[in-house]
Amino acid sequence: MPHLAEQDDRRALAAPAQRARLLPAPIAPPPARVLVITGPSGVGKGTVIRALRERTGGLEVAVSATTRAPRPGEENGRDYHFLSSDEFERRLAAGQFLEHATYAGNRYGTLRSELERPARILVLEIEIQGARQVREVLPEAMRVFVAPPSIDALRERLAGRGSDSPGQVESRLAAAADEIRAQSEFEHVVVNDRLEPAVDELERLVATMRDTES
Ligand code: ADP
Ligand code: 5GP
Repeated sequence: MPHLAEQDDRRALAAPAQRARLLPAPIAPPPARVLVITGPSGVGKGTVIRALRERTGGLEVAVSATTRAPRPGEENGRDYHFLSSDEFERRLAAGQFLEHATYAGNRYGTLRSELERPARILVLEIEIQGARQVREVLPEAMRVFVAPPSIDALRERLAGRGSDSPGQVESRLAAAADEIRAQSEFEHVVVNDRLEPAVDELERLVATMRDTES
């Protein structure tokens, strides 16, 4: 039986070398630049990223995987990929994570597949251990540490958010003291005191990423 392409005499196929010259190469979108936003829980990372996305286009936020339980209103696949501990460890063993960490008793990580999201700039909102790993695996990523104006302001924000129990607030504050000391490891530090100036500063940093786009 003849091959289907040979039956279709309206579309005689060119020899492979000729086809290579005639057909334009498929245009793959350039890979996204990666912007890491790190800092203690409750400092306002999610808030500044939301505000930044309202001001500037082309930014996508990677959806992390976690073993923590969804909070009310959180959706699987939108806010996080909520995984069982077994599934998280299975994917980790299979090399599927770009970075990962244990934070306040739960596992968190960025799946490598998130890097394929179509975006000019892909934002990773992650804690510090993960941000350190990104420096090793993606040294070209821009890494920004968002700092609180004070520990008291951080406590107020964590408590005011109302999403964590008092025990969880304390465990996040305990982690924050060490995290704040690590801020000197980061190329850029933005203090989120008043929201607008903090977002202005981030916007300027993102503009420098765009300026260096090839
Ligand atoms: P993170 O993502 O770092 O855990 P969130 O974005 O959830 O932090 O912010 C924690 C709480 O702090 C939220 O209730 C948020 O509205 C509040 N917040 C964020 N930025 C500011 C700011 N500049 N001033 C006062 N409150 C803020
Ligand atoms: P939360 O439980 O408040 O959503 O997140 C707790 C902490 O985990 C936050 O500091 C948040 O930035 C961080 N986090 C969220 N996703 C990831 C991730 O994929 N990797 C790492 N390393 N940290 C993450």
